[in-house]
Amino acid sequence: MIREAIQIKKDDKVKVIAGKDKGKVGKVLKVNRKKSRLLVENINVVKRHTKPNAKNRQGGILESEAPIHWSNVMLMCNKCIEPVRSKNKALDDGKMVRVCRKCGEVIDA
Ligand SMILES: [Zn+2]
Repeated sequence: MIREAIQIKKDDKVKVIAGKDKGKVGKVLKVNRKKSRLLVENINVVKRHTKPNAKNRQGGILESEAPIHWSNVMLMCNKCIEPVRSKNKALDDGKMVRVCRKCGEVIDA
């Protein structure tokens, strides 16, 4: 099986294309390349029951994001305002950047 490399990086804006948060857009907080999973702001929020500890004496319910598989999201292009596929392109100075396959806009800031 050929593994497609994750073309998503931290701070990217992505759109969820599958699962309970389908259609939502969020910012990537963390990328786990080994597990092919991403943590996306306000996406796949789960409630965790926490026991009282030194930080939180009461314990209770904490809401936090759970990682989702990267194939469930697509990179957003700021120009197309829609999820797009990206491709790598070398700039004049040799730096590799990701560009939108549709409009050619550079996605990397
Ligand atoms: Zn585009």
